[in-house]
Amino acid sequence: MYTLPDLDYDYSALAPHIAPEIMELHHSKHHQAYVTGANTALEKLAEARTSGNFAVVAKLEKDLAFNLGGHINHSIFWKNMSPFGGGEPTGVLADALGEAFTGFAAFQKHFNEVAMTIQGSGWSILAWDTLGGRLAIYQLYDQQANLPAAQIPLLQLDMWEHAFYLQYRNVKADYVAAWWNVVNWEDVAARYDRARTQTAGLL
Ligand code: MN
Repeated sequence: MYTLPDLDYDYSALAPHIAPEIMELHHSKHHQAYVTGANTALEKLAEARTSGNFAVVAKLEKDLAFNLGGHINHSIFWKNMSPFGGGEPTGVLADALGEAFTGFAAFQKHFNEVAMTIQGSGWSILAWDTLGGRLAIYQLYDQQANLPAAQIPLLQLDMWEHAFYLQYRNVKADYVAAWWNVVNWEDVAARYDRARTQTAGLL
């Protein structure tokens, strides 16, 4: 069974960039719903195997992918942020981003463009492609679509309206700009290090 992880900081810690009201609803209601949804889907799949009613499997597999996707995405998103975040990465990660995306400024513009152009709900993601051994940016739809398998997320930006609408209304660009002020580059760098060193040869 999956459980809702605690945050490393208070709901008010990312203000003024992300309002406490958003943080509380986002974590205690939205993220909790994905955790509950994933567990429910797993329970019902087990019931289907026991009862032999495999007709429900297709629908439950979609529920599982959506809700477990939501649980994973938010679990990483909370760690990707810190009240002591912002600025630019340093060291190995900075060099890698610069090399992969033609400099940090171009990386940020690319990532922002992906975030700003999502149709409907989704995420902008910086990931490590374990097959190619390279950094990549993806536009993730909903909680689970449009992402190849075997990508290890390093940095994720939630572009669902629940992530910003109470504070930024329809002005997505202001939300995205403010979010960079709380990015926890230490966490991203640690994920980058683990992704590279622990997936080599995996595929
Ligand atoms: Mn969300």
